[in-house]
Amino acid sequence: MRVLVVEDDEGIAQGLRAHLRQHGCVVDLAGSVAAGWAALQAEPFDLLLLDLGLPDGDGSELLQRLRGSSGARLPDPHTPVLIMTARDAVAARIAALDMGADDYVAKPFDSDELAARMRAVRRRAGGRAQPVLRIGDVELEPATRQVRRAGAPVEVSAREFAVLLALAEVRPRVLSRQQLEARLYEWDGGPDSNAIEVHVHRLRRKLGEGVIRTLRGVGYFVPEQD
Ligand code: CA
Repeated sequence: MRVLVVEDDEGIAQGLRAHLRQHGCVVDLAGSVAAGWAALQAEPFDLLLLDLGLPDGDGSELLQRLRGSSGARLPDPHTPVLIMTARDAVAARIAALDMGADDYVAKPFDSDELAARMRAVRRRAGGRAQPVLRIGDVELEPATRQVRRAGAPVEVSAREFAVLLALAEVRPRVLSRQQLEARLYEWDGGPDSNAIEVHVHRLRRKLGEGVIRTLRGVGYFVPEQD
């Protein structure tokens, strides 16, 4: 999952980044409303983690702008948003939820709870209530990043998991190599150009050829199952 964290407290931001990376997220940081908006316009994110007290304004301004946006490409106005507020800031929390935030965490928060809330918000955004994704005999569990084939655990790398999850979440939609790369890598230090192909190749070897299909010249997709 690719996450944008908009938080001006450098210590909290770095701590969040380190923790979310352990949960398999790719994390970009922005420290102001302006920087957050620029990031949302530049890249697609699976989730926005938003602080309300920012140096150049209130985080809810960013939320309002995002929900009201109708750009041809970016940002996606439906991007799930989780706000971070002070424990006693009840009024601000209610206002943000009514403005379109999906959920909130009160500071100081437990980072495992935060990760669980993020997964729940992502699930609902994908129209799913179940915590496990199934592709034929393959099962994918975002909470533990475990993959099973016919009930037996299969070892996959963090990036292989991220590729499979990204495709499974939007199936049967096709994602281009560029869209997959954008979900996996941070702005600086991109991958070598064939990295996605390598991940897909390894996933097929481990999970079967049918799990990810290629649409030649367009990208990859996970077929719809019945
Ligand atoms: Ca703040």
